[in-house]
Formats: sequence, structure tokens, C-alpha cells
Amino acid sequence: MTQPPALARAVADGIEASRSNGLNAVLSFDRETFLASGEVGASVAGSLAGAAVAVKDNICTLEYPTTCGSRILEEYRSPYDATAIERLKEAGAIVACKTNLDEFAMGSSTEYSAFGRTKHPLDGDRVPGGSSGGSAALVAAGAVDYALGSDTGGSVRQPAAFCGVVGVKPTYGRVSRYGLVAFGSSLDQIGVFGKTVRHAADLLCAISGYDPLDSTSAKRDPLQLSLFPRDLSGLTIGVSREYFPPKLDAGIKTACERVLEQFKQAGAMVQEVSLPHTHLAVATYYVIAPAEASSNLARFDGVRYGLRVEGDGTDVRSLYLATRGEGFGPEVRRRIVVGTYVLSSGYYEAYYRKAQIARSLIASDFDHVFAAGIDLLFTPTAPSVAFTAGEHVRDPVSMYLSDAFVCPSNLAGLPAVSVPIGERGGLPVGGQLIAPAFEEAKMLGAAHILESMVDASGEVL
Ligand code: GLN
Repeated sequence: MTQPPALARAVADGIEASRSNGLNAVLSFDRETFLASGEVGASVAGSLAGAAVAVKDNICTLEYPTTCGSRILEEYRSPYDATAIERLKEAGAIVACKTNLDEFAMGSSTEYSAFGRTKHPLDGDRVPGGSSGGSAALVAAGAVDYALGSDTGGSVRQPAAFCGVVGVKPTYGRVSRYGLVAFGSSLDQIGVFGKTVRHAADLLCAISGYDPLDSTSAKRDPLQLSLFPRDLSGLTIGVSREYFPPKLDAGIKTACERVLEQFKQAGAMVQEVSLPHTHLAVATYYVIAPAEASSNLARFDGVRYGLRVEGDGTDVRSLYLATRGEGFGPEVRRRIVVGTYVLSSGYYEAYYRKAQIARSLIASDFDHVFAAGIDLLFTPTAPSVAFTAGEHVRDPVSMYLSDAFVCPSNLAGLPAVSVPIGERGGLPVGGQLIAPAFEEAKMLGAAHILESMVDASGEVL
């Protein structure tokens, strides 16, 4: 797959158009840098030769700053490439630009970026989802075919669903986290966006595989996917009733039911199952993720990285307080306060330890259904379509609930993919497949068939 210079220019034009039309998906881009690296990339005999990949701005790259959507890192430039970026470059791909995100990847709408919200490409009053909203919006706008995001509790799949593109969260450990700015280290994975399942799969294959620089990376060879299967015969797809609550949006429910019918026609068995601890997932996630975040974000102290605000100049404590007070936005501060609280000696048992217990119950729910012969689970990706900007920012818990169907697989470390399955009121609807650990090949094969079924049906819901 080589990309002639004219195509590189078309990508550059698309990225620039997204900046001038106010989409605000891109935080940094330089045309000259991009076109020069495009020529180098296209000459590499790799699987992604010349492919332009937009990169979420919490993944370290030598070109461009790495801001994490935060004032505290506004000027920060990484001295190294993340392992995923090194591997992309080895495969001939080019860093197209850095994309907007909720500050430190905390959020579900890209409204918490210190650099302004990203708009939904189909309706500027709506959000693209988050936290990888810039990457998803840029693929949906047609500027690039590939993008990287990070998925700690759904931040690749939920924006993929809102924007109508493909988004994959790999198994925990499948992709190196070296150079991904840490949010919740036991949950974080770099994930991929593609215009199609094929694009996403090719990108994932290129960045996956063991990395000695990440002690949690799995000792596995890079993922390889040559041919996708032609049908689903022999596969059993599980449908968990907990992901189809009675209040589920009717349009989303109908889109999912149509998919299940088509799965059967493609030769799969569809079986109802139960994952009885699913209702604990959001509460569990919003204890564990802030706990880990509060610890990870301690490094931003005004001494080692980015912004420094001197405070009243009396001591180092005033420097810390002034830098962190000015550098972090409201959602990040909320997470640090919650995280510090649940880890404090008086509350550790009541919150953090309980959350760890709930996390293992959620993980064993998945183990049980997979051990009982279910190959893949199918669920809606999000409980709603893209919502209106401002709808949830004043009510954090309502924002957190939009992660209900995506965060369980992070808690269990499982791979999952969101594929566009139709639309509701002119806005995309995503369907999610969740697989056992390291079964990405099976999952993406089924996702590819799902994608073709939806295209072939051509029906608008
Ligand atoms: N929306 C979730 C949160 O705010 C997930 C974020 C993510 O996956 N990075 O924490």
C-alpha cells in the first residue's frame, strides 16, 4: 500500500480543512513536516507504507508537542517516540497530526480539552464522543483513514460509535503502553480507529507485540491477520441481557436486533447469556480509574514537566499548588480528589478494596460465558447516539453512565471493537463485539463480516 504524493497532499488538505471549518479535531499539524515524512514513509517496504495516521495527543511523538489536552503540558515535547509510533514508522506510516482529547483522556465527549471542544462532523452542536474525539472525528470527516487513540474505559469505542467509524481496544498487554501518558495503568491500552475494519486491523497488527520497555506487555508475537473468514458458521455469539436494559433507546435496540438476525443468516448461533455483575462496572471503574490517575498525575508538579507557576515563592509546596491549580482543568481535579480519597487510609477498605473485588467479579462473569462456549459477545457500544454539547458537563455522573457498555471490558482486560451498524435520527449507531483475551483475530474477522452485512443491507433505520 503505497501513497503517492498527490494522496499525501489530499490528506494535508483534509487536515487543514478540518482546522479552518472549526471541527477542532487537530491540536498540531505542519504541512511541510507531513509532506517530507510522507515521502520517506512511502519509500519504506512496510505494511503501512505512506499511510497517514492521526495520533491522539497523549501518545508521545518526536514531531509535535504532546499536550494531553492540558495546560500543564501545553509546551511539552517528548524526547522519544512511543513504541507504537516507532512501530508505525517501521511499517512506513507517517504521523499525520496530533488530535484533540479530553484532558488526560478523562471524559466521554472531548469537551474537557483545555484547547476547546471537538465538534461532531455531522452536527456541530453535538459531541464526537471521547476521550479520543479528535481522532474519531478526523477519520469520520474523511481526512485520514487511520488514527490512534487510547482506551481506558471506552475512549476509542464510544467515539467510534458516535462518529460512525471502526474503533478497536486490544487485549490488555497486546500493545505496548510505553510512551502513552499514563491515566489508569491497569486499564489503559492504545487503540486504533479505521475507516473500515481492514484499516483498523492493519494498524493494530503493525503496533502490536511484546515490548521490553513495558513490563505489562504480553510476551506475544505481533498480531497477524491475513484473510478474514467468509461466514460465521461455527461461531456462537452471546447476547447479554444486562446490555439490553428495558430503557435502552429504541432505535439502538432495533439496530442491534437487525444485526443479530443477520448474524444468524451468516451462520452464527445466537445465544442469550447473563453477565450478572455488569451493573457494578461504572461504579467500579470510577473508583479504580481515578485512584490510578491520582497516583499517575503526581508527576506533574511544575518541576519535571511542562508548566511551572512559582506561587508565592516561599517553598516548593506553593510551587506545586500553584502549578497544579492552574495547570489542571476541573474534571482532572475532580478525578485527583476522588482518587486520593478512595486510596486514603480511612476509606481504602470501603472503596478501593471493594472496587477490586467487584472488578474480579466482572472479569469472572466474562470467563464463565466464554468457558461455556460463547465465542464473542455482541452489545450496543453506547446507550445513546452522539449527545448535544453541554448536555452532561454539569452532571459528571450522567457523563460517566455513557461508559456503561464499554468500561467492563477494560476492567476485564478484554479486546473489543465498535463497528457502525446503522443510524438513528441521522446519527451513527455502533455495535460492539467483545472477545476472550488475545482473540482479536476471531473478533476482527466477525467485525469484518458485520461491516459487510450492514453495507449490503443499505437500509437506513
Ligand atoms: N470516559 C471514561 C473516563 O472518563 C473513559 C476514558 C478513557 O477511556 N480514556 O474515564
